[in-house]
Amino acid sequence: MSNPPQPKGRDSIDRDSIDQDQFLTVLSREDALARFEAALFPQAPPSEMRSLADALGCALVQDVVAPIDVPPFDRANVDGLAVRSADLASASETAPVRLTLTGEAIACGVVPLKPVLSGTATSIATGGPMPRGADAVVMVEHSQPAGHRAIEVRRAASPGQYVSYAGSDIARGEALLRAGAVIGSREIGMLAACGIAEIPVARRPRVAVLSTGDELVQPGQPLRPAEIYDTNGTIVTAAITENGGEARFLGAIPDDEPQLESAMREALADNDMLVLSGGTSKGAGDVSHRVIARLGSPGIVAHGVALKPGKPLCLAVCDGKPVIILPGFPTSAMFTFHDMIVPVLRRMAGLPPRSDAKVTAKIPVRIASEPGRAEFVMVSLVEGDAGLIAYPSGKGSGAITSFAQADGFLRIDTLADQMPAGTEAEVTLFTPHVRVPDLVIVGSHCTGLDLVTAPLARAGLVVRSIAIGSLGGLAAAKRGECDFAPIHLFDEKTATYNAPYLADGLELVPGWRRMQGIVFRKGDKRFEGMSVQDAVRAALADPACIMVNRNQGAGTRILIDRLLGEARPDGYWNQPRSHNAVAAAVAQHRADWGMTIAPVADAANLGFIPLAEEHYDFALVTARKQRAAVRAFLDALASPESRAALTQAGFRPA
Ligand code: AMP
Ligand code: MG
Repeated sequence: MSNPPQPKGRDSIDRDSIDQDQFLTVLSREDALARFEAALFPQAPPSEMRSLADALGCALVQDVVAPIDVPPFDRANVDGLAVRSADLASASETAPVRLTLTGEAIACGVVPLKPVLSGTATSIATGGPMPRGADAVVMVEHSQPAGHRAIEVRRAASPGQYVSYAGSDIARGEALLRAGAVIGSREIGMLAACGIAEIPVARRPRVAVLSTGDELVQPGQPLRPAEIYDTNGTIVTAAITENGGEARFLGAIPDDEPQLESAMREALADNDMLVLSGGTSKGAGDVSHRVIARLGSPGIVAHGVALKPGKPLCLAVCDGKPVIILPGFPTSAMFTFHDMIVPVLRRMAGLPPRSDAKVTAKIPVRIASEPGRAEFVMVSLVEGDAGLIAYPSGKGSGAITSFAQADGFLRIDTLADQMPAGTEAEVTLFTPHVRVPDLVIVGSHCTGLDLVTAPLARAGLVVRSIAIGSLGGLAAAKRGECDFAPIHLFDEKTATYNAPYLADGLELVPGWRRMQGIVFRKGDKRFEGMSVQDAVRAALADPACIMVNRNQGAGTRILIDRLLGEARPDGYWNQPRSHNAVAAAVAQHRADWGMTIAPVADAANLGFIPLAEEHYDFALVTARKQRAAVRAFLDALASPESRAALTQAGFRPA
């Protein structure tokens, strides 16, 4: 029985200390899963009768025995004549045998009434039932009419020729499907052939999904400051459906204990399982795990798993029903769901464990890892000269794309502190039909790139663009791991872009220019209508003015440092890694000015003072120049359509 809701107060302080203990006892992934399964199973999954049309993807819970023979009667396999084979023993091209027609024509669904006696034949269609006396069928092509009600046959026939005997496909009493079989279109076909309209299948577990967090807004609604869209809700709902559950998304609940508790109680009353996300760490406002203890026994079985991503995962069983709190970060949520929850869900749905396809791929760069946790690294696959290469996603567990754009993941063992570059690692694929891309672009990302690759995608080419920055891209190009590396690297010595950075085996393909300049909020008198130098002077003169910088190594950073000289104004150490982050900081009043590119400033509706053009070019791996996809990219780059689209977006094609 579950306990009644408790008022907050002293009591909740005590409970906090209990939770603290649970979170400190971090279990290994395997122990956590074992405890979870021990608390849940054995449990006979409830079953139900479903019509064939609704049974797709369900698991059968009982063997199905064929109730009839299929075909139910002896049946002709070709259009022709039902005959007695003995009559045709001597038939040949030169000595045809003449048979008298019975006058009956057996179409499908017609019951023959006249027997085939010696010396006679009955015209029969494919699928027609064999008449009494006949033991073979002669193809119509091997006969010709021979006057009134007679026919000549030019071939001998063996007994049974072109006849399918009753029960030869499926015999009555035969085990058609075994319990546990997953119903697909082929299984449905067999059942339909036997006349079975309904089958007993495991009832799809009803799984309620709740997101938690004050900051969450459902897609389609406007986003206010400090809010984010609820991504876990939709992802988890879809992943449940993909794995045999019947998902019910119940929305996002604020971090309010009483509200959350009543939502969780309601969800558990109507469903077999509850999956929440967020609120499982020890941060302020993380309350979901505190509620679980009151929802039924045994309650939390694991809170804190030595898993990365996914350490705050919380697994509970409340009166026989699994309750899971996934970490809030989308990639952690998706990964832990995939790794720890899917096996349990499939078992509840009566489905066999998912069989994951695996490939071996080489790691191009060293991957650091924190010892003490089994670390799973999302990777993108590309085809190298000597086999597959697995690029780790650099975006971390807070990024939705880490998971969504990865092809699979690799595992770094609990005790290891790294996976060295060059390791041949086993990669588990998210889907068995991963398609290795036709064109691989590794380096700095620019929204202009999407405009150039659009026609390739329309032509059916798979383009993979991996954003790891100019220097990372250049290194990948030197190792021959990509076709192109988009770069925008300024060389101070020569005061030129990109060309000085090329190595043997690489050539420069000019891309486009991006105007860089100062961004500010429209109407800000310190910047509006000023030259760059005057604007910077005004900013430095105002102690309340905050800037946003760029990371070391960015071409933009060099421009900023030149403008600032020795000055280190407030905000100098805020050094985001992208043009968009600079615009967001200014638009959201966290900073008053920074340097970004014109299209990004325009998109954020900010004021802009142009300073200098940055060259965004492509380092092409010469050895790959003749590849069809590379040619297609070069053609697209030069095409009037791409150039117009780039210009329209605020870039200046080279
Ligand atoms: P929490 O575990 O609630 O502290 O959440 C950790 C991080 O994940 C925070 O940045 C949350 O904003 C984020 N997060 C939590 N739930 C969701 C969700 N449903 N969709 C997207 N992000 C989320
Ligand atoms: Mg939260």
